[in-house]
Amino acid sequence: MFDWLQFFRPTPPFSGGVLLDMHKITDASPIADCPLPEVLIHPLKQHIGASCELLVSVGDHVFRGQKIGKSKGYVSAPVHAGTSGKVVRIEDHIVPHPSGLGMPCIFIEADGLDQSIEAKNSITDWINHAPSLLREQVRLAGITGLGGAGFPTYIKLLKDQRHPIHTVVLNGIECEPWLTHDHRLMIEHSDAIVEGLAILLHLVGSPRGVIAIEDNKPIAILAMQQAIDAYTSNAKNQAAIIMVVQSLPTRYPQGSEKQLIQAITGQEVPAGKLPMHTGVLCQNIASTEAIYRAIVQGKPLTERVITVSGDALPIPANLRVRLGTPMRFVFSHCGLRQWDGIQIVHGGPMMGERLKNAEAPVVKSTTGLLAMARNTLMAEHQGEEPCIRCGHCSEVCPIHLVPNMLADFTRQEQFDKAESYQLFDCIECGCCSHVCPSHIPLVHYFRYGKGQLAQIRKEKSFAEASRQRSEQRNSRIVQEKAAKAARRSRVRQQAKKILPPETKDDQP
Ligand code: SF4
Ligand code: SF4
Repeated sequence: MFDWLQFFRPTPPFSGGVLLDMHKITDASPIADCPLPEVLIHPLKQHIGASCELLVSVGDHVFRGQKIGKSKGYVSAPVHAGTSGKVVRIEDHIVPHPSGLGMPCIFIEADGLDQSIEAKNSITDWINHAPSLLREQVRLAGITGLGGAGFPTYIKLLKDQRHPIHTVVLNGIECEPWLTHDHRLMIEHSDAIVEGLAILLHLVGSPRGVIAIEDNKPIAILAMQQAIDAYTSNAKNQAAIIMVVQSLPTRYPQGSEKQLIQAITGQEVPAGKLPMHTGVLCQNIASTEAIYRAIVQGKPLTERVITVSGDALPIPANLRVRLGTPMRFVFSHCGLRQWDGIQIVHGGPMMGERLKNAEAPVVKSTTGLLAMARNTLMAEHQGEEPCIRCGHCSEVCPIHLVPNMLADFTRQEQFDKAESYQLFDCIECGCCSHVCPSHIPLVHYFRYGKGQLAQIRKEKSFAEASRQRSEQRNSRIVQEKAAKAARRSRVRQQAKKILPPETKDDQP
């Protein structure tokens, strides 16, 4: 039986983690609209899963919200045009990924009219609609995990009778330094988020919702509590649901799904299991707002709120940006003119990707864009020294891994050993690197090791598939030979029966 009283007691924090300098210099900056660039760039894959199928051609005119990429497969999410205009190019372009590699993108030249397709599917009385219909609307709106994960949201909303959801947790933690976009959403759009939570409870059949916020965001805590009070005091709303705000002590990486569930419920999500196996659905604040917009306003996902900040940025801000806006345009809007010695970070400084340039577009998983002085970022990892076995990395690891050993194994290319020490459980939070007195870039080793192991697995499965094909071919050849031999033998037998014995003398 789940213990609900614990929501009203101080919660046990998750193990490990660190306290960081937060640098949240934009936490009092209201969300402003970023202007529209001349050209939007829409990658056909902005999510975990299969890339989308192209629905437009060069020369086509499109409207904002028009589907231009159709999801292909179960794990996928459609892509919609960010504004009205003309499709001018369809070609590979850089996307936000440290590799700097490109993928197919649709380029839309804005016509300046910003005309949207008509919102036909607005459902204000969603409580009277079946969850399956609402889930389909979330799928069609192209919503993915806007906290950076990029997993198609509708899949998380499918009901599984074996694992009923007893709690929906809204993740308002935002524990990465510099980022404040969720903080501002909670302050400025609290009513939409609370109704989005009510929709989620209806969708998964859960009676309780918890909005988890770290105690360094007191205004957001107050705003969300007031929005809950206003929602629940309205007689026409569901009486049977409970919604609470839970303040948690600030600690990185509390915003990571498994750590948050442990902090809220005291339950540890076992390795290899999903949150739903503990009866919890975790949703990001921005995704919840997007769900509200998709259901109540009938709007597909064409924009998102991001934080643009960093110690090298003249005018940091929280901006509502059209998806597809080139990062360079966003930085220029925030006053960045001098690009020398700047490191662009996609996301937060702990878990974000360091990009080679700012040519990629803002995509669904863009939580923030940072322009950092290279010296600041380098300071953490300057002059790697030998491990002194101090054990600090293990103390702060929220997953109970032994980072120094994992790093040793990956450095020595003993990837099978690294795997047996649960390398794949590492969430790449960066806590171990952050505390290492020898400045060892541990997470870099782990990313390298995971990449190598993935490659080895791919090669193994390719070799296994070739072996099976070869075996099947050999066995077919053997079978065919046997069949031929049997046929020949049958023919000889029949010939013996047909030919009279004296014909033997006629043979040459
Ligand atoms: S924190 Fe650094 S020096 Fe200490 S054990 Fe870990 S890797 Fe070695
Ligand atoms: S080993 Fe992975 S999960 Fe553990 S602290 Fe380091 S980066 Fe985080």
